[in-house]
Amino acid sequence: MQNHTHNVLLYYLYTPIENPEEFAAEHLAACKEIGLKGRILVSREGINGTCSGTIEQTEQYMEMVKSDPRFADIVFKIDEADGHAFKKMHVRAKKEIVHLGLEDDINPNELTGNYLEPEEFYKLMQDQDTVVIDARNDYEYDLGHFRGAVRPDVETFRDLPNWIQENKEQFEGKKILTYCTGGIRCEKFSGWLKREGFEDVNQLHGGIVMYGKDPEVQGKLWDGQLYVFDERIAVPVNRVEHTIVGKDHFTGEPCERYVNCANPECNAKILCSEENEHKYMRSCSDDCREHPRNRYAFEHGLTGEQVQQRLEALKETAQ
Ligand SMILES: [Zn+2]
Repeated sequence: MQNHTHNVLLYYLYTPIENPEEFAAEHLAACKEIGLKGRILVSREGINGTCSGTIEQTEQYMEMVKSDPRFADIVFKIDEADGHAFKKMHVRAKKEIVHLGLEDDINPNELTGNYLEPEEFYKLMQDQDTVVIDARNDYEYDLGHFRGAVRPDVETFRDLPNWIQENKEQFEGKKILTYCTGGIRCEKFSGWLKREGFEDVNQLHGGIVMYGKDPEVQGKLWDGQLYVFDERIAVPVNRVEHTIVGKDHFTGEPCERYVNCANPECNAKILCSEENEHKYMRSCSDDCREHPRNRYAFEHGLTGEQVQQRLEALKETAQ
């Protein structure tokens, strides 16, 4: 990006934080003072953040964080941008910085998979005996993923352990490679895989973000785009070729545009074109279209009768 004015930061560190509540309050005040926007989670196990600001603001923030001896080893992944990627600034104290929901939690500083740098990952993922597991959610995979990677059928990270246990035979005796956005989920997930008895467990160090920035691999063998948890939603990874893997929820046509289902109780992420967003009332199903609090109907002032007419029209075009 030429002459960019802002940066978007992504970072985490598993390191003990004694009083997360107190830390969160102080950290929030410091972030606001700097003028940063974003979302930061802290817990007794560490910090997990993503935030945006002008180049000066983000530099000031990184310096502040690194000056704390607990965070001396933190790695900031920096994306160039031309504005903020968040509307507000949140710092929240939580039980975990990533929610895997294990009864007996994993401390990645004690148990985790072998770290692979982008070039090693690139080479190993092409081996016959390798199985690559996407450690993210289904809607993240659907927008983009490593070519040939396994798509666990899970909506949230905490469902992943169960899914692996149910599909164990796919992975037994194989070299396992895991990856996620910035690496934080794999730290725990790969540790859990080892505890489950898988022997050859490896994780992409720095996640997809660093893989895309690596000057040698340049994001090769990544198809589609990377789902990010800020207002950009989708960012490119593969700098050699761009293939679209996302499919329009309604027509199956190539699509990389995410919207949330207008039924507030569903809120599912659906890929669809602008045209189909209107045609289908930005709702994933008829049930969602008819929901009494449908946000699309509300925004467009549709009466119950008009909604019924729209449903009838959709039935006719489907025939
Ligand atoms: Zn829905």
